[in-house]
Amino acid sequence: MYELIILGGGPAGMTAAVYAARKQLNALLLSKDTGGQVNWTLGVENYMGYQFIEGSELMEKFEEQVGQFPLETEIGPEANQVRKIDDGFEVETSDGTKYQTKALIVATGKRPRQLNVAGEEKLKGRGVTYCSICDGPMFTGKRVAVIGGCNRWR
Ligand SMILES: Cc1cc2nc3c(=O)[nH]c(=O)nc-3n(C[C@H](O)[C@H](O)[C@H](O)COP(=O)(O)OP(=O)(O)OC[C@H]3O[C@@H](n4cnc5c(N)ncnc54)[C@H](O)[C@@H]3O)c2cc1C
Repeated sequence: MYELIILGGGPAGMTAAVYAARKQLNALLLSKDTGGQVNWTLGVENYMGYQFIEGSELMEKFEEQVGQFPLETEIGPEANQVRKIDDGFEVETSDGTKYQTKALIVATGKRPRQLNVAGEEKLKGRGVTYCSICDGPMFTGKRVAVIGGCNRWR
């Protein structure tokens, strides 16, 4: 029985992990991957202390920071069920492993919808991007195609 399970290894989950480790909680960070959406970012210009840093590089630094604490991690499995049990929660992963915890932080973020067109996968982070607010400034003065428009634009 863990005191805390953190689901998700993006910036939110890794930050929670550092807080948990510093408070010496018996905690587990469980995630499909580390870095989350930031790995898809061309470059980050709004993280204070860095004028520009590639998303993957920033996430490597986050991982290093988590790694300096004796915190248990399970990177790879996908949590596909969470059940309420008497004194907490039970998390079950895709491989059938069950983990019990008194408290749970869900930091599973989100995934943008894919177009599923030829070349998309190869050009992800190299011209194909999924966050206009985040990456738009990097395309200033360039010809771009915008696919889709959110409902709020109506
Ligand atoms: C293309 C792009 C560019 C961006 N650029 C910027 C930028 O320049 N500046 C900025 O501030 N923000 C930027 N963002 C936004 C930023 O990436 C997100 O706000 C941030 O990543 C959210 O962090 P998070 O930890 O909440 O979630 P995520 O990054 O979504 O991480 C969620 C984590 O949970 C894991 N997970 C999900 N479901 C499960 C499950 N069932 N079981 C186990 N693990 C699971 C995922 O594998 C992932 O590791 C950008 C986003 C995109 C897509």
